[in-house]
Amino acid sequence: MERTFVAIKPDGVKRGLVGEILQIFEKRAYRIVALKILNVTDEQAQKHYEEHIGKPFYPGLIDYITSGPIVAMVLEGENIVNEARRIMGSTDPNKAEIGTIRATYAQIMQRNIIHGSDSVESAKREMSIYFDESELCE
Ligand code: UDP
Ligand code: MG
Repeated sequence: MERTFVAIKPDGVKRGLVGEILQIFEKRAYRIVALKILNVTDEQAQKHYEEHIGKPFYPGLIDYITSGPIVAMVLEGENIVNEARRIMGSTDPNKAEIGTIRATYAQIMQRNIIHGSDSVESAKREMSIYFDESELCE
């Protein structure tokens, strides 16, 4: 069993897509280990996206992720890090496979609706930015 960190980004929350997106993961029988809505602080945003510091899209990315509440979660399941990324589709919705979350709900990379960790190590790091150990349900 593996865990990943997933976040419905501010555009997904504003557009009322939280229920639909949760359902996609629940239908796949992944277990929700933690779940909350929160406003991302600048400090959290900088930690989350530290690998992208200095890239041209970085300032816009920080503005985006702090532009309104996100729904953050930890999900658990077999091979979930890679599977959750496959369900979300490519970073650019125009390149994402039809049927994926990004291809279904988004048009552009700068508003691509959802985040998912890219490795088990990233997942551990990212969940610790948004959750205390005590918030994870065993
Ligand atoms: N992003 C962007 N422009 C780019 C690349 C990325 O706005 O050229 C944003 C986009 O929201 C993406 C996030 O930065 O989801 C993190 O980029 P990454 O390459 O890690 O993509 P992800 O892991 O989210 O698919
Ligand atoms: Mg990434």
